[in-house]
Amino acid sequence: MKTQNLGYPRIGSQRELKKAEEAYWSGKSSLDELLKVGKQIRIHNWKLQQSIGIDLIPSNDFSYYDQILDHSILFGNIPERYKAIEANQNLNAYDLYFAMARGYQKNGLDITAMEMTKWFDTNYHYIVPEFKKGQTFTLNSEKILREYQEAKELEIETKPVLVGPVSYLLLGKEKESGFHRLDLLESLLSKYLDLLKELAKQNVEWIQIDEPFLALDLDTRSKEAFHYAYSEISKVISSTSSKIMLTTYFEGLKENTRLAATLGTAGLHIDLIRSPEQLIEVLDHLDSKLILSLGIVDGRNIWKNDYSNSLIQIGKAVNKIGADRVFISPSCSLLHSPCDLDLETDSVKLTPEIKQWLSFSKQKLEEVATLAGLTSGISNENLPEKWNRNQAIQRSRQDSSLIHDLKVKERLRNISQKDMRRSNPFPSRKEKQKQSLNLPSFPTTTIGSFPQTSDVRSWRAKFKKGEITESEYTSLLKLETEKAVRWQEEVGLDVLVHGEFERNDMVEYFGEQLNGFAFTQNGWVQSYGSRCVKPPIVYGDVSRTGPMTVEWSRYAQSLTPLPVKGMLTGPVTILQWSFVRDDQPRWETCFQIGLAIRDEVVDLEKAGIRIIQIDEPAIREGLPLRKKDEAAYLDWAVKAFLLSASGVQDGTQIHTHMCYSEFNDILSNIADMDADVITIECSRSQMELLEAFGQFKYPNEIGPGVYDIHSPRVPSKIEMVKLLEKAKSVLPEDQIWVNPDCGLKTRGWEETKKALIEMVDAAKELRVVSK
Ligand code: GLN
Ligand code: ZN
Repeated sequence: MKTQNLGYPRIGSQRELKKAEEAYWSGKSSLDELLKVGKQIRIHNWKLQQSIGIDLIPSNDFSYYDQILDHSILFGNIPERYKAIEANQNLNAYDLYFAMARGYQKNGLDITAMEMTKWFDTNYHYIVPEFKKGQTFTLNSEKILREYQEAKELEIETKPVLVGPVSYLLLGKEKESGFHRLDLLESLLSKYLDLLKELAKQNVEWIQIDEPFLALDLDTRSKEAFHYAYSEISKVISSTSSKIMLTTYFEGLKENTRLAATLGTAGLHIDLIRSPEQLIEVLDHLDSKLILSLGIVDGRNIWKNDYSNSLIQIGKAVNKIGADRVFISPSCSLLHSPCDLDLETDSVKLTPEIKQWLSFSKQKLEEVATLAGLTSGISNENLPEKWNRNQAIQRSRQDSSLIHDLKVKERLRNISQKDMRRSNPFPSRKEKQKQSLNLPSFPTTTIGSFPQTSDVRSWRAKFKKGEITESEYTSLLKLETEKAVRWQEEVGLDVLVHGEFERNDMVEYFGEQLNGFAFTQNGWVQSYGSRCVKPPIVYGDVSRTGPMTVEWSRYAQSLTPLPVKGMLTGPVTILQWSFVRDDQPRWETCFQIGLAIRDEVVDLEKAGIRIIQIDEPAIREGLPLRKKDEAAYLDWAVKAFLLSASGVQDGTQIHTHMCYSEFNDILSNIADMDADVITIECSRSQMELLEAFGQFKYPNEIGPGVYDIHSPRVPSKIEMVKLLEKAKSVLPEDQIWVNPDCGLKTRGWEETKKALIEMVDAAKELRVVSK
């Protein structure tokens, strides 16, 4: 029995790569310095995996930005607009690479970045390949060969990781009409085969080819593409001594099982965390040679593996095909897990009781090695001890009083349909809200946050370090809030916000005030490029420790007669951006969070807040990867939102906000959320999304974002009037709000002020026109 790993985090356990990249990008360090850090990380990762005893250690899993972008370079798939950079003598291959990822605005050039989108249902973002009709590819295997050799010099034999030809094409987008990207398969494949030959020439033993699409719904065309591609690959590989490990993850193979098992590869990897039930079916479909890699240690979450469960699964495979044909592995690349639990040394932040339940990348590989040892029955004096300890920890988690709060469970058992519905339908609520709020037509508002200046961030840092007292910190924030309120009054906005200056992050801020949440010091996971996130850990039943935002909202409202929106993060988004407990269904955890938010909503109402916004930007991200599971998810996600929103009177106006996702196909679910107002990011596909809302006859009020907050550019009144005219042509006037795309925390005050003045003027112009 062998062990393998599909990929190791590349940011470095202290985010070394992030720091090195940002220094390089800002001109503070040289390319050599950046490359040195990259090499150090690779060497550290390989040696670590070797010392743990992993047999198949990946290479080419390292990337300076994104592995899909690396593949675009690998196959010379570089869009036309970057030719100017390639042609410039003074620029090098890394300048080109980063220009594709981040755009290039220097030396008189202004070239946009390639699009970035979410990697399946993770919070990782990849750079979307661009395809043109009839395009050709070239092979540029320098990186992959160099990294393989680098490990070889350390006497570590690695398994180069590639994204499969079919998945690579499916991950991309056609940039002109009249063809399908799979039309390019033959052309891509010829280079792909050359690459495999080159690798074989180096005597590479295993090559990992990732084809995550094999675990998704496939149309006939894609299935044929798989058949064709892998028959060609097999032809080439069969005459060499190299072997292909075909990997799938994030879902079960289901109806594609036969397809995946008969593509002629030497090995097949399956995800037994997302789809434990697929094991039996896959075992039934294996021919007499295929090696099966069991993805048995969760690569997407941070809980310690339960050895007894895993050994049952491994046992089934060993009984059927023999230990020689079974590999043990994490379920997917460890890119989606933090690096090393040993770095969590703050026992106040993460108590020893909780910490013992967790496992990060390094620990997960140790689990993989231990599981292989336990199954092989190799006599090793440490193994029984490891087994006993693992089982004791599982038991301690099952009955820990830290996790189980009977009051929360009881409350959840007693919720009824009534709790997930406002008392009256929207039209009658609208009437009451009209009277109580007395807003003009085309009311103006913002999404919640105002610029988090370096001052604001430095106060927070000082407060955390104990350099200023809590009351000093609060006074500073109060002043900033007051300034923001005065400023909004001056600009002439109709519905104000307090500015969210007290918040570090829209999930962490709430998690810190909820029971059942824990936080790490170094639990970073790459989100895109140099950006990392540190998701909170939901380990137990969730409830409020007390009101979370009421004081800030009450204070802001006390400063002005205009309505100030209460501002909350919704249950689905809190769930989606956390590591979630795996001992109960996700919906149950989400409902618990929903109840906690509901309490906050009710308290805000009691404190005199008339408008409350519950942000759900992540609702679409939670959508399952298989079509047939979508309805069930959307059902509970909408209910969790309704649970949080429905405790208030008709006259209290509930807003929600969503951004940066495709919403067209879930409009009816968004309508089911029954928020009185939704503010939604629209700038990327202005008409498309609005038209969809119009055609759908979206019943409640809607604020299509009229300007893109990701750019420092100040939009003009005329532009925004035009956009609002478009909105008017598809939606009834009395449904339309006027607001930016998203929160303004990353912007500066100056541009924000200019932009909002233009925006308010645009709304005023519409009011005049429509009189
Ligand atoms: N209210 C939040 C803000 O304005 C919303 C952020 C988001 O949508 N991601 O910052
Ligand atoms: Zn947003």
